[in-house]
Formats: sequence, C-alpha cells, structure tokens
Amino acid sequence: MADSPIAADVLVLGGGPGGYVAAIRAAQLGFNTVCVEMDKTLGGTCVNVGCIPSKALLNSSEHYEFMTQHAAEHGIGVDGIRIDLATMLKRKDAVVSQNTKGIEFLFRKNKITWAKGRGTLQKDNVVEVTAADGAVTTYKAKDVIIATGSVPVELPFLPFDEERVLSNVGALRIPEVPRHLIVVGGGVIGLELGSVWRRLGAKVTIIEFMPTIMPGMDEDVIKEADKIFRKQGLAIRTGSRVTGARRDGDAMFVDVEKDGATETLEADYVLVSVGRKSSLSGVDATALGLNVGKRGEVIVDNQLRTNLPNVYAIGDCIGGKLLAHKAEEEGVIAAEVIAGQKVHMHYHSIPSVVYTWPEIASVGLAEHEVKAAGREYKVGKFPFSANGRARTSGDTSGFVKFIADAKTDELLGAHLIGPNVSEMIAEVVLAFEYRGSSEDIGITVHAHPTLSEATKEAALAVLGRAIHI
Ligand code: NAD
Repeated sequence: MADSPIAADVLVLGGGPGGYVAAIRAAQLGFNTVCVEMDKTLGGTCVNVGCIPSKALLNSSEHYEFMTQHAAEHGIGVDGIRIDLATMLKRKDAVVSQNTKGIEFLFRKNKITWAKGRGTLQKDNVVEVTAADGAVTTYKAKDVIIATGSVPVELPFLPFDEERVLSNVGALRIPEVPRHLIVVGGGVIGLELGSVWRRLGAKVTIIEFMPTIMPGMDEDVIKEADKIFRKQGLAIRTGSRVTGARRDGDAMFVDVEKDGATETLEADYVLVSVGRKSSLSGVDATALGLNVGKRGEVIVDNQLRTNLPNVYAIGDCIGGKLLAHKAEEEGVIAAEVIAGQKVHMHYHSIPSVVYTWPEIASVGLAEHEVKAAGREYKVGKFPFSANGRARTSGDTSGFVKFIADAKTDELLGAHLIGPNVSEMIAEVVLAFEYRGSSEDIGITVHAHPTLSEATKEAALAVLGRAIHI
C-alpha cells in the first residue's frame, strides 16, 4: 500500500521570486509550508538566469565601458585594459550562487520544506513530487499556490539550441565576445543583454518588428532611448521582420524583411527575445478543470484565487506584467488571503525598469494611454542636463517626466530615463501608492546635490514652477 500523503498547510508549486516569497510569508503567518522546486537551486528564472545574472554582467560591462571610454575625461589613464570573460562569467555565477544560497538560508530560518523535484498537481490539492532519482513523495495541502512562472517564446524557424540560437539562458554565458550578435526583439531582454555584449565589443543588431523599440512605453522615453542607444553603437532596425534563419557551422544567416525587401544578415550568435509566455509545468489545466486564458495564463480573481477550491496562482503564470517584483507581491498577498487577511494587489503602482544605461523606469500610464482615456492632463519634464549631480558624473542624458490630472493634480504617470532611475522610481511609486499629486513631490525637500532633485523639479514643472529650467 502506498504511503499516505504528507500533510501541509500551504504548498507552493515553484521556487521563483513569486513562489519563494509566498512560502516565506506563509511560514511567517504560522503555516506549515512546503515549496516544490525542480531546479538544483531556488530562485527561478529571476535569480538563476534572469534579473540577477544579467545585472551582474551589466555592472561588469559598465565598468569596462567606463574605463575604455570615460576614464580619460576624469584624468584617469588606464593602460592595458583587457576583458577576461571567463572571470567575468565566473563572478556572475558566484553572485547567482550567493543569492540562491540566501534563499535556502531563509527557507531553513522559516522552517520551510524544500521538496526537491518536479511537482504535479492532482485533484483535491494532492501534489506528487518526483525527485531526480525517480523517488516520489506525495503531499496533501490545505491550500496550494501555483507559481510556475513563464518560458521564453520560441520562433518556429529559430528554435533555441543555447549554442548559437540563444534565449536569456544562453545569452548570459556566451563563451566569447560575439563578432556579431543579432537580437530578435527590441524589448527589455534584447536591449539589456544587447547592451552587455555591445559594451564588451560585439557588433549588435537589434531587429524589432514594431515601428519602435520598447513598443507601448511612453513615446518621449522611446525617442530618447532610441537616440541614445544608436549613438552608443547599437544597430537598431525597426519595422523589420525576421522571416527565416539557417545555421551553417558556427555562422547564422538571418533573413530580415522590411517594406517587402528581404536582406540576409550573417552573425555568429542570435538572441531571440520576443517575449515570454505563462508556463504551467506540472499542472494539467484541462484534467483539473482549471480556468486558463487564451495565452495559457491562469485566471484568478482580485485575491489571486483560481476557480479551484483552495488553489491560488501568482506571478508570471497568471500573466499581466511579467516582473519579479509583481510576482513577489502577489506571493505575499496570496499567503495573507489564505490567512484570512483582507488584502489585495495595487496593480496601478507597479514600477517597470529597463537596466540599460541610461536606465529607464516608469510607473502608471504612458501619455498616449492618458490621452486615450480622454483625461485632461498636464505634463512636467526636467532634463538631467540641468541637474548638478548628473553633471558631476557626466550622466546628463535623459529626463524625468510626470503626467498629472489637469484638475486634481493626481499623478497619473511617471517616466524616467537617466542615471540610477531604477532607484529613483521608488519615491515616485510611494507617491502613487498614496495617490499623491505632483505638488506632494514638488514641495518635498530633496537633498542637494542629488539626482532625485530632477524628480522634484519635474513635479514642480507640472505646476509651471520648476526652479532650474
Ligand atoms: P518584451 O515583450 O519586452 O519584448 C519583445 C519584443 O519583441 C517586443 O518589442 C516585440 O514587438 C518584439 N517582437 C516580437 N516578435 C518579434 C519578431 N518575430 N521579430 C522581431 N521582433 C519581435 O520581451 P522580452 O524582452 O523577451 O522579455 C520577456 C519578459 O521578461 C518581458 O515580459 C519582460 O517584462 C521580462 N523581463 C523584464 C526585465 C526587467 O524588468 N528589467 C528584464 C528582462 C525580462
């Protein structure tokens, strides 16, 4: 007779940023918690092959670019600069490992069981976990949180081999600086990882089939970013469609169509970054009767409940913005809902960041969205070229832009492009969380000299009273 299942209060399927945070919050709330993760390490895409390793490489490549292009302006002469790619990649792996071990520590601290293996959700909240050696452990949980993440979208004629045709996974471990890297998709991954390899010396061509890179973002930001990225040396081809590709030895041939004419580009590596889609590994939605949408995303209510009793879903697998910090917050909310708390997500105040240089950060609506909603609005903008601190570091491109309701002054959108805006956006998000106005930020004292004075000035610009422009 099979062993009876191990009882758990909360079982989380998936140990990415959504899942592991949900597990920690559930444990904090006193639940006996199990988190199922099949990878060798916790942390999911974000920690292992996404946010963390890409930021490590972005940082290393920024240092290299500073030394080769800007150190001289500071009166610093550096001779014999060279790239030791193996060390750079090893450092990135070490950073990942610090983070995955950190999560293991937090699991031990919070007495969370990491069920290592592939979980499959069955009826009545029974979850079977199959370990790498084939051993099966069965759990039965009062509540289950599905946090199975997302996978990269593959182009049918460019399947990932992670050798020459790369997803984010392969693009974080190319063993040499590419001669020519073709990036299909001018979104977040394409621009971040394209920037890494360009800085390290690769020719990088970005092919985007929409009329602009980063479609959907505020148009002023797109224009500024496009100008800066081209000046930095990224070859950007918009309105261009990749229609076919072939591999010949180490060479890739990619057919690019624009306005009816097709050109074949040769490259040694191709990164395909055309989006990600919800993944439901280990969850047979049809067999379970779980409601999913057209793109395979689990449908949840505003408290992250699925249609199955005591089954919740969070993070990339429910769609919306595929962002680690959105998943984390949903993890917290799901655990608190299970604990009977009256909580819900504030989706209007979730920031988005692109970690290029300059960085791009936004929260709320883009100007075209405010217009489409028929709202009367005012705009305030302040350029970093007029900010003293930005001049000290020579990072004067970009601006802070606020959009506020014309009558009430409530903040509707904020769009920043410039140095360190990934950190500066936090203040703005807080204002959004409190449904603040541009005046709230404009009358707040900001330390001088700081980059965040540009935020204050842009808020004052909405009111027509910026001081330094
Ligand atoms: P994305 O949605 O940001 O960009 C994909 C781009 O590819 C779009 O501009 C789209 O128009 C274009 N595209 C689609 N099909 C194409 C085709 N056949 N040919 C040419 N262009 C095509 O997706 P991504 O960059 O792959 O990132 C995936 C997800 O991961 C996103 O949801 C993103 O939010 C998330 N992510 C976030 C961060 C961050 O927050 N900094 C970093 C990396 C990834």
